[in-house]
Amino acid sequence: MSDKNEVEVLPLRAFKDNYIWVLRNRRYAAIVDPGDAQPVLDFLQHEQLELCAILATHHHADHVGGIAALLARQRVPVFGPRGEPISTLTHPVGEGDTAAIPQLGLRFRVLDIPGHTRAHIAYYGADSLFCGDTLFACGCGRLFEGTPPQMVNSLTKLAALPDETLVYSGHEYTMANIGFALEVEPDNEELKARAARDAQTRKDGRPTLPSTIGREKKTNPFLRCREPAVIASANKYLGARASDPVQVFAAIRQWKNAY
Ligand SMILES: [Zn+2]
Repeated sequence: MSDKNEVEVLPLRAFKDNYIWVLRNRRYAAIVDPGDAQPVLDFLQHEQLELCAILATHHHADHVGGIAALLARQRVPVFGPRGEPISTLTHPVGEGDTAAIPQLGLRFRVLDIPGHTRAHIAYYGADSLFCGDTLFACGCGRLFEGTPPQMVNSLTKLAALPDETLVYSGHEYTMANIGFALEVEPDNEELKARAARDAQTRKDGRPTLPSTIGREKKTNPFLRCREPAVIASANKYLGARASDPVQVFAAIRQWKNAY
């Protein structure tokens, strides 16, 4: 996030492993995916901040469950996917739309990234990506409502963002994801180095997020379905000879579900 307008991004923990992301300056805060209102209300009060916007990435309760309680305290714009049933949205948005937060001097471009849910969106701006449950550190969301081709398209779209883009995902799943990624690519040196680094980060009690698009491209098997090592592992799992990225993706997604 640029320091020009002194906006800081920080996580609030919710439930078992959710992150509610807060974008704040000295006076205002915008909240991404408030599955629970209480940690947000506590934070706003503690920091003496005024809520100015809510951004939702998809309709799952652990991402939107706290919105109504936040709005009961204060009416603010609520951005979220046009194609999903979220009753609290005031600004339904989709691909190409903008989510503007003037109080923070921020504008995000909305990207359609279906797959985890049927109309999941991401917010991209200020060198940052808020991508909910689509792209995780070293992993990706389960396909609850979408298909492998949709998810591959969505992940390809995110992988095309600049390498330095900061990736803010909705859950701290990193170490479990890295464990699986090492099964797929046991010889990936970048991945092994990342495993050691992120294990230390967790040991220190810190979030492994944000990641970056560049780091994900080097270590996340779901973004590496064209890599020979990933193709070979997928085929070993399948007992087949697939090379199409969608087939490779579907194989490692299925493998991970059973892992
Ligand atoms: Zn979800």
